Amino acid sequence: MKLIFATANKGKLREAAEILAPAGIEVVSPFDLGFSKEEVDIEETGSSFSENSLLKARHLYGMLPSPMAVLADDSGLAVDALGGAPGIYSARYASLDGSGSDHDFASNIDKLLFNLHGVSDRRARFVCCATLILPDGNALQFDGICEGRIALARSGSGGFGYDPVFIPDAYPGLSMAEISEEAKNSISHRGHALQQLLRYFTANHIC
Ligand code: IMP
Repeated sequence: MKLIFATANKGKLREAAEILAPAGIEVVSPFDLGFSKEEVDIEETGSSFSENSLLKARHLYGMLPSPMAVLADDSGLAVDALGGAPGIYSARYASLDGSGSDHDFASNIDKLLFNLHGVSDRRARFVCCATLILPDGNALQFDGICEGRIALARSGSGGFGYDPVFIPDAYPGLSMAEISEEAKNSISHRGHALQQLLRYFTANHIC
């Protein structure tokens, strides 16, 4: 079975492909179908991960020449000491005050560390809402969370986004960018959401 993933984020694509491959699901990039970054990267006008995830999935589904299953992921980092920020604004955290541009991972981390300077409560979690649109247009959503805390400084070179400053509870002392991709996928917010999707497929004999 093929799933078209409504994302321009290579990290998300790689992780979803690895998580879903063992179940025989091939994750296809919208670029492989000829869509441009501008067509895929829509404005996220929703007020929750769930709304934005559905927006992305429905948008790509509406552009397909013939019905296919579509996957979307809206995700982000919620930091307790910042009242849940950056939350749904995680990808454009630094661009909100002009200190960086959208999807500028380095500037986003700089802003996060600056805002947490001197803060001892560094509890945080990654959140993911995955949307599946079936070829008949029906939509389903699956949520995943990964608990952890924000480090004092970056470490590691794996993953993407905030991974170098996120220390998952499952690997104390290591950042998400220091563990293997396999380890990340087994504990991550995205991994948990997509494992639920796989359980749905199994229960409904979809693949
Ligand atoms: P969006 O879902 O495209 O709105 O953006 C998600 C943003 O949240 C990314 O740009 C990252 O900054 C952050 N994010 C989501 N998932 C991860 C992850 O697995 N690791 C690190 N950062 C993530």
